[in-house]
Amino acid sequence: MHDEAHEGTLGSRLNWLRAAVLGANDGIVSTAGLVVGVAGATDDRSALLTAGLAGLLAGSMSMAAGEYVSVSTQLDSEKAALALERRELREQPDAELEELTELLEQRGLTREVAREAAEQLTERDALKAHARVELGIDPDDLTNPWHAAWASFLSFTVGALLPLLAIVLPPAAWRLGVTVLSVLAALVLTGWLSARLGSANPGRAVLRNVGGGALAMGVTYAAGVLLGAAGA
Ligand SMILES: [Zn+2]
Repeated sequence: MHDEAHEGTLGSRLNWLRAAVLGANDGIVSTAGLVVGVAGATDDRSALLTAGLAGLLAGSMSMAAGEYVSVSTQLDSEKAALALERRELREQPDAELEELTELLEQRGLTREVAREAAEQLTERDALKAHARVELGIDPDDLTNPWHAAWASFLSFTVGALLPLLAIVLPPAAWRLGVTVLSVLAALVLTGWLSARLGSANPGRAVLRNVGGGALAMGVTYAAGVLLGAAGA
């Protein structure tokens, strides 16, 4: 059981890390697209700052709200599953003991050992045993929607700060070059990290990620130039 708990913790930590990297990636791409688009239309630094800051806040809050809603929904269904489990344990303990025995058998224990283990687990903490083996959740460590929302908010913000600073800090002539290069370099890093954390091929992930970011900036820049030229 110790090994399993350890694996579960490591797995969920990697998931968090991966979510943070993807959140930062979103912040980079969407804010870069926004500020590069505005830079296509105007040289005005305060317009760039306003657009970038508004994009940062809108994006990070929208990510946080979305994450809050989705994790809350997950939490509701985990709580409902635990409540059902609790009721089944109360109303039909024998059937539940048999169920736990069979689940442990499926994991490779012999019938006798599985029975013995199921009895011990049931004696110690029946609900916890069923939650872990049957539902794959730890009733003492349910996902917290607020943590998830904060993590999204922070990771998006960290990502968004890069294009925002890159577009407002350098002199006007350097603005676009600095932004495009630093964004593409950051996308190499986030693409590589998220692939490594998800055990996928880093080369292809990096190419897709950089390609997506370049496309986003190219499209918004073209739109900004057209609108700027039209005097909008
Ligand atoms: Zn059960």
